Amino acid sequence: MPRKASAKISRRSFLATAAALAARPAAAATPTPAPAATDVIVVGAGAAGIAAARRIAAAGRRYVLVEASDHIGGRCITDAKTFGVPFDRGAHWIYAPDLNPLTKLTLRRGIEVYPAPPSQKIRIGRRYAREGELEDFLSAEVRATRAINDAARKADVPCEQVVPNDLGDWRATVEFMLGPFGCGKELAQFSALDFSRATERTTATFCRQGLGALLAGLAEGVTVQLSTPVKSIDTRRSLTVETAKGALTARAVIVTVSTNVIAAGRIQFSPELPHRNIDAFGRLSLGSYDHVALELVGNPLGLDSDDLVFEKSTDTHTAAMLANVSGTPLCLVDVAGTFGRDLSAHGEAAMVDFASQWLAGLYGAEIKKAIGRSQATRWNADAFTLGAASAAVPGAQLARRIMMEPVNDAIWFAGEAAHETLWGTVGGAWESGERAAEAVLRRMGVLKPAPAEAEAVPKAKPKPRVKGARTAPREQSSFGGTPSIMRPER
Ligand SMILES: Cc1cc2nc3c(=O)[nH]c(=O)nc-3n(C[C@H](O)[C@H](O)[C@H](O)COP(=O)(O)OP(=O)(O)OC[C@H]3O[C@@H](n4cnc5c(N)ncnc54)[C@H](O)[C@@H]3O)c2cc1C
Repeated sequence: MPRKASAKISRRSFLATAAALAARPAAAATPTPAPAATDVIVVGAGAAGIAAARRIAAAGRRYVLVEASDHIGGRCITDAKTFGVPFDRGAHWIYAPDLNPLTKLTLRRGIEVYPAPPSQKIRIGRRYAREGELEDFLSAEVRATRAINDAARKADVPCEQVVPNDLGDWRATVEFMLGPFGCGKELAQFSALDFSRATERTTATFCRQGLGALLAGLAEGVTVQLSTPVKSIDTRRSLTVETAKGALTARAVIVTVSTNVIAAGRIQFSPELPHRNIDAFGRLSLGSYDHVALELVGNPLGLDSDDLVFEKSTDTHTAAMLANVSGTPLCLVDVAGTFGRDLSAHGEAAMVDFASQWLAGLYGAEIKKAIGRSQATRWNADAFTLGAASAAVPGAQLARRIMMEPVNDAIWFAGEAAHETLWGTVGGAWESGERAAEAVLRRMGVLKPAPAEAEAVPKAKPKPRVKGARTAPREQSSFGGTPSIMRPER
């Protein structure tokens, strides 16, 4: 349908949202009996685990990849069954496609990847924001971003503490975009340094088949033991990993489960993890972010394919919508942060109800009749994830480096949280998995030692002071977490 004559946020300014496995176990994942001993055990078959397993296999070493659930992909999974079209239950946006390892691998496999629209809309009540209003909004958003980045140069404070007081009636919208929508947490719980160090994510692409399907394609040839939760990891004598299906031994283990899963003690470590590591997992806790997927056949909202819509909100009870995903009738109403967490705790019906009411408030009550099938994710309740994506609490950005330190020369942690700039993304998880695998291969003597600065193990290094940190916060931060935010050019 033609785009309505509504004003849109454009100029490279902008916001791009970010969001079983075809709801099925990956066809490529071949369950096999556990060998008694192997070189490396990889725990968790999400992006990081798949990347790690591929890297170890490429180096000619043996691995066992164990996954607790009955499918691969973790937080990057496409359900192709529920709506008959790809529904990415977790990640959907491919950030920084020119650099993203997934994109490069994807192109080789012929999966269709296309650019995300560069602009978004803001709904003010029952109409779209006009050009002047969007200018006001952008100005407020840029000022808030700059204030956070400036503050991060001096100290790792809560983002909220430094957001200007004079954002006027755009304040709630800006706070939602930078906080819950951006990283799954309120600005009060979010580190200014984490915000400012996040890699620029000003461009993005989508995968027509779903990002989870893309990841499943990358897992082709990777052998996975599904439905095999790891219960404990013992490094006291030889390395032993106890799973629900028996014990495995290896020379090293790469653990890619989420920080919340570790912090919740779902895997027992003997001896216990060092306190600084335990502390790091707790301070890199996951934010809350969920999709309420609604089928809206016939485009009753009159939106284009992949249009991203926000509302000018007055409080935290708000959402963002990605409409007509890849040209299908699927619309994702995303809820996040404290409000999203509370809402999801009430269950799927409450989430769908909120999304319908929210849409009715913006487009009229009639829209409710157009809603067909629906489904809501509840990542906080997913026992093998316990949340959406990591966002450092104030003062905790440096915990990401601590996560990358090996423990007892046998355990390496990987996953989205173990990436200083691409945290909260699939690309970051992938790179982190590859890095951990390479560190293990170096430890085994398979790869040459890396130059000192490339080693992700600053063990004896004193804690860097935030002031004068080498990575200066950017003026135009884009940041991670689930969605990313594109800034206006200045
Ligand atoms: C709703 C939502 C939207 C998002 N949107 C985007 C986006 O648009 N773009 C983007 O780049 N990122 C997005 N993200 C973040 C992205 O999905 C994650 O950063 C990434 O997928 C994490 O990969 P991972 O390998 O680190 O962890 P995971 O994907 O969580 O993989 C860990 C695996 O470990 C398994 N596991 C857990 N416990 C055990 C155990 N005891 N034994 C064995 N296995 C275990 C889990 O089942 C899981 O498969 C989104 C996330 C969510 C939830």
